[in-house]
Amino acid sequence: MIFSELIINDKNWQHLCNACDNDRLPHALLFHGDEGMGKEAHALELAALLSCENIKNGDSCGNCSSCNKIRTFKHENIKLIMPFPRGSISSSKDSPLKAFKNEKAFQDYLTLLNKKSDDPYFPMRISGANTILINSIRDLKREVLKSTVNDAWKIILIFQAEKLCVPSPAAGHALLKILEEPPDKTIFILVSSNMNLIIDTIRSRCQSMFFPPISDQVIKQKLISMGQDSEQATIISKISNGNISLSKELADNYLELIKKMYVLLNSFFTREFLIWEKSIDIIIRLKRKDIYLLDQLFNILILFFRDLHYYASTSDQDEIIHSNLIEKIMNLCKKYSQANWSICIDHIENARDYILRNGNISLMAINMIIDIQQSINGKNEEKFKLSDWISI
Ligand SMILES: [Zn+2]
Repeated sequence: MIFSELIINDKNWQHLCNACDNDRLPHALLFHGDEGMGKEAHALELAALLSCENIKNGDSCGNCSSCNKIRTFKHENIKLIMPFPRGSISSSKDSPLKAFKNEKAFQDYLTLLNKKSDDPYFPMRISGANTILINSIRDLKREVLKSTVNDAWKIILIFQAEKLCVPSPAAGHALLKILEEPPDKTIFILVSSNMNLIIDTIRSRCQSMFFPPISDQVIKQKLISMGQDSEQATIISKISNGNISLSKELADNYLELIKKMYVLLNSFFTREFLIWEKSIDIIIRLKRKDIYLLDQLFNILILFFRDLHYYASTSDQDEIIHSNLIEKIMNLCKKYSQANWSICIDHIENARDYILRNGNISLMAINMIIDIQQSINGKNEEKFKLSDWISI
């Protein structure tokens, strides 16, 4: 295997190995399931299995020149397609590499590939890349026609494959023509966390393989083996919903996120505008600096309110996610027995969606705080008056 830390999905992997052994590998596969399940890494592992120069006990060796080149995205027979920005591309004949406007943009792309080589769960996101360019598929068309040395496999990896079809299906239609008449010993491995966005005509030509979420227990053990504190590992494994890459990001940022969550929580229970301002400031700064982290902050906040809602309705502690905050949760439920915690979750979700979509952050954050305060105090119907809260 080329990635020692990849958690192999035994069922899928066995199925793929059997297909390889019996020479019954389909010419197009579609690995689907939520993000962070290791789908891309499984695609790379399959590429290694098909290309390794030194197969041992039915697995790739992970050390030969072929395995090394696959792990570092340098193999001549493996083609990687993923969303690129439009960059300086102006004509259909331009090389997809013109997607990178300058040397720095290209180096940033190479850095992403390097990070993926080190961490099979690393999510590769190129800034400004919203679609798979039709130029990438035209380039691929030329590439698949070239023969390989010694009749080796040609492997086409298409990551974030749904971006073939959104916002425009042009690249998807162009790919379809290649999928309809695949050259011999060529395999397409499409990987998608949003399979429903892929056009039916492509989906029907691929053998689908579902990658389910990884269990909380496995994620927890993985985090502990990486040095995470056991209690934090338990909480993060529950928050990350079977998504390994998310759990790693959360582990890296856990203390910072919890600190920020406290500030936001405080603003929901006070009329002091200075504390509101702190919350708004956190949201504005994170939006600018790291929108994924902001999304995670909202998510852990939502899970905290889910805990409040759950405890208020069941008085059961077993399913509480923020288990280290159980006393706080119990106290809040007791003190605010009239609160409608479930509506608070709606308010946070609305604010999150609006803010992440480029809305007016300050206004939306203030609205969220006010709406939540009203729901906590059981005043869902009462019309809010700005003058009650801020002296103008
Ligand atoms: Zn090898």
